[in-house]
Amino acid sequence: MLKKVHFRLTLLGTGVTGGILILTTLIYLFVWENNLWRNRFQTFQSDMNNVVSSLENTTVISGAYLSSLEAGGRYLVYLEDNGMPFLYGNIVENEERQEKQALLAEVKDYYEDHFDDMPKGLIFAYHTEFIYEKRTGILSKDKFYVCAAILSKEQGQLSLFIISPQTSYQKQMIWQWLFFALINLLAILFLYLFFYRLTGYALRPVKESTQKQERFIASASHELRTPLSVMLSCAALIPSEDKKEQKRLCDIIENEGGMMKRLLNEMLLSASLSVSQIALEKEETEADTLLLNCVEAFEPMANEKGLTLSALLPEEAIPPLCCDKHKIEQVLSILLHNAISYTERGGSITASLSYHKSGKRHFVFSVADTGIGISDGDKKQIFERFYRSDESRSEKGHFGLGLSIAKEIVEGHKGTIKVKDTPGGGSTFIIEL
Ligand code: ADP
Repeated sequence: MLKKVHFRLTLLGTGVTGGILILTTLIYLFVWENNLWRNRFQTFQSDMNNVVSSLENTTVISGAYLSSLEAGGRYLVYLEDNGMPFLYGNIVENEERQEKQALLAEVKDYYEDHFDDMPKGLIFAYHTEFIYEKRTGILSKDKFYVCAAILSKEQGQLSLFIISPQTSYQKQMIWQWLFFALINLLAILFLYLFFYRLTGYALRPVKESTQKQERFIASASHELRTPLSVMLSCAALIPSEDKKEQKRLCDIIENEGGMMKRLLNEMLLSASLSVSQIALEKEETEADTLLLNCVEAFEPMANEKGLTLSALLPEEAIPPLCCDKHKIEQVLSILLHNAISYTERGGSITASLSYHKSGKRHFVFSVADTGIGISDGDKKQIFERFYRSDESRSEKGHFGLGLSIAKEIVEGHKGTIKVKDTPGGGSTFIIEL
């Protein structure tokens, strides 16, 4: 599922940025090519101005001059003297010459179809430039710049066609387009890799949380199945005669049932906290009595594990705390339960309360233990839902939900919860309200 989302996000990112890149490249190439052709045509026009005026100013048009214009295939020149073709240079009847003649014939036809007849009886030279395009395939056509001119000479009129083939420039343009297409292709490939990494990075928290949830579901089903099978096997043995044995089995059932209830309660609370804002029923509460009650409730559990559990309360009277009594009790119970679970036999746990007149938050609860402690890496994550450090995975009755619930409740009270090391070893959780 996540892989699909990852792939789709990558495609979306690449598609949008790649599309923008292609569009800007196309616009750039289009404008650049148009400007280039316009400039080339203007240059051709001014060149033709010079050619026509130099031909106009010479009394005898030399074949050498015309041949020099044709040199290197730059121009093709066709001259008619009073309607008769003017022959110059090496007239060799070969295929190339025939091709040129055919092209001249096409250009002349095109000129006659698209322009008025050349003016006659002019004193000055007349010339016009145009673009002739010859289709060579479905998508391709060769481009020619053409100058048609009339020169008035003493012996009569000379009509002149000068053709400048643009095919080599067209080829250059095609290479330019191919070059940009290649660059765009490489850029899109790079964008794909970039977005693949970026979306992978962005989805990492989602992936981690899905993995945690999957782990949680696996361990929660395990946690529910084990006590259920214990309860069922105990229930099967209850009909025995031995009263003492019956009592022991009932105690086991109660104990295991209690554990299942705790897990289900935590799951329900956690699920409800994730869909809605925490609902608080605040009332004025005696904070010291609240802490004392919690500590007393956990005394049997601590004694059973051989731990010293004590409470440190302020000596002077303190004002009441406005809070949701049951929710704060729940937070303290989570911290005390964890402290007992993660402290070795013989250790000690101290729950304390202090009151500070100054500052934003006046009540400070703390639960300090001398237990296994929490590594700096784990400290950053223990308040996340479903997080359990490796050492605590085997701890029964712990599902990685307690501290995330505690955090939601404390933050619902606009308070803070944090953890630090207990001097000498262990962890201390501090709540400020
Ligand atoms: P859990 O129900 O697994 O204890 P919590 O959300 O209450 O879940 O705690 C998350 C993790 O934080 C625990 O799995 C444990 O690794 C660590 N932790 C919590 N309290 C203590 C503590 N007092 N000492 C050491 N580790 C603790």
